[in-house]
Order: sequence, then structure tokens, then C-alpha cells
Amino acid sequence: MSLVPVLKVNNLSTHFHTRHGVIKAADRVSFTVAAGKTLGLVGESGCGKSVTALSILRLIEPPGRILSGEVWLNGCNLLKLPPGQLRQVRGREIALVFQDPLTSLNPVLTIGTQLAETIVSHEEVSRAEARRRVAELLLRVGLPDPERLMRLYPFQLSGGMRQRVMMAMALSLRPKVLIADEPTTALDVTVQAQILAELKRLQEELGMAIILITHDLGVVAAMADEVAVMYAGSIVERGPVAQVFDRPAHPYTRALLRSVPRLGREELVPVVGQPPLLLNLPAHCAFLPRCPQAGAACWGEKPELREIGPGHAAACHRLFPRAS
Ligand code: SF4
Repeated sequence: MSLVPVLKVNNLSTHFHTRHGVIKAADRVSFTVAAGKTLGLVGESGCGKSVTALSILRLIEPPGRILSGEVWLNGCNLLKLPPGQLRQVRGREIALVFQDPLTSLNPVLTIGTQLAETIVSHEEVSRAEARRRVAELLLRVGLPDPERLMRLYPFQLSGGMRQRVMMAMALSLRPKVLIADEPTTALDVTVQAQILAELKRLQEELGMAIILITHDLGVVAAMADEVAVMYAGSIVERGPVAQVFDRPAHPYTRALLRSVPRLGREELVPVVGQPPLLLNLPAHCAFLPRCPQAGAACWGEKPELREIGPGHAAACHRLFPRAS
């Protein structure tokens, strides 16, 4: 990305040490995202997208451990920040929206109380001022009658309303970066489209960078400027959305794109085989057992992510036959 990145992730590796072996959930993941831009992080379930998001915010619980890497935001490496400073950065500078708002919202507090609490715990404002801002935020995310809504508990709201409340909570401190992890997956298509449109509008208003984690390539096509495709804990292709979707270079990206409906194409081809278990991954390319283009070179070292064009990179031996 040629614009100055607001968030820069370098060689981030998070492993889980279990009694059965090491799960390399994120392995040397690198990407950047610029202010006002959206990066789509895509891949099948269990490919390491959510672990990457949690690692960025240092929310990994044992037996998981961030082994190495850097996460630069505003000149600070979040992985080295003392816990007190990190708490201030979370929410204020970088916020996270999960797929399931019911597990993220406190069931015994009203919507108004928990949103206002987020604001007063990070900023020196009165509770009355915080509640005024909450009402404004709820309107902004498309929830009418905010005064009434603020008196309700999470279980009294529909799934779509809860997701909008989560969005309001994430945006309450006007973060520079928003990580949205499958934010609309549990919702029906109409509500999903409305929420994504509102997210886009708020992004333009606030100039926020968004990392959109999803398995839905249609959502990425509609929302993202850049895309990073993850497979078995690693990014296998990364670049501008139009370029990657029109001219995918990695066999896995090509297979993923063939598996989703497109206007004018009748036949859908599912990606053959199953994603590998991240436990004790092979030393060679993890896509090898499913790859229609695998050759002798693919049994060598795991391919590195390398530039194949301006801002476009892929990790496949076939793309660099002589050098690999
Ligand atoms: S390195 Fe080989 S096995 Fe892996 S994606 Fe490329 S062609 Fe397929």
C-alpha cells in the first residue's frame, strides 16, 4: 500500500503449545493498513484470521503465546507496550467488533450504562456527557429512539440491533483502527448490507482504517481496498482487491474465488479436500495436498510471500520457478 500505514504488522507469529504438539495459528503474518482504507483478511474457518486479530490487541490467552513480531500503531510497538498503556490504546486507538455481540455485551447492564462506561473509563468526561455521546452514536449506527434503547438490556434487542450496539461501542472512542471479526455473519442478508453500508459511511466520516475479517469474498469485494488471503496460519496472497480478484496468483486464491457465485458464471467449484490441522504443520507448502498445480519443487521449503507486481505478493514456488 503506497499510503502511509496507520497500522503495520510485521512477522507476527502466535503459537499454541498443547500436549499434542504446537499449533502454529499465525505464522509470520505481515500487512499494513492506511487511514481511511479497508483490508479484508479472508480464508476458511480456522486459518488464523481471528488469532491474528487477537494477537494484534494482545488478547491471546494461554496456552497461546505471541512468539515474535511487531505491531506498530502511532509509532508504538503494541507488543512491547506496558499493560497500563496498552489498556489505554485498546478502545481509544484500536477497537475490535466480534461476530457474536451477546458474548461481548454484559447481560446485566443496560445498553446506555455499558456504552457510557466505555467512554468514562478512557476519557475525562461526566457521565451525563458520556450518555449524550452514546445517544448520538446510537443514532449514527442507525438505531432510532436512542433514549429508550439505552434503558434496555442486550437480551431485549434483535441480533441486528445488538451488532449495531457493538459497533457503537467500538466507535465510541473514535479509534484510528477498527478490527471487525465477521461482524455480520450471523445476520440476514438485508441487515448485513445495511450494517456494512453504515460501517463504510462511518469510516469515511472518521477516517478510520478497518481490518475486516471474513470468509465472505462478496463482502470483501464490496468493502475492502486490499485483501490478504490466509491459509494454514500464513498469508499466501496479498494485494489490491481488484487485482487479486481479477488476476489471482496463488492456487488457493483461485480455488476460493471459483467456489463463490459470480454473475454470469453458472458452475461453482468447491475447494477440494479439507484445510490442514494447524497442529504440526509440514515444512513444505501447506496447500500441497489440495493443490492442482503441485510439482516436485513444492516438496521443498515452505514458499515465502514475494512481490509479483506493485503491491501484489504471493507465496507459491510455481510463481518463481528458478529462484525457488
Ligand atoms: S507451492 Fe506448489 S503446492 Fe504450494 S500452492 Fe504453489 S504450486 Fe501449489
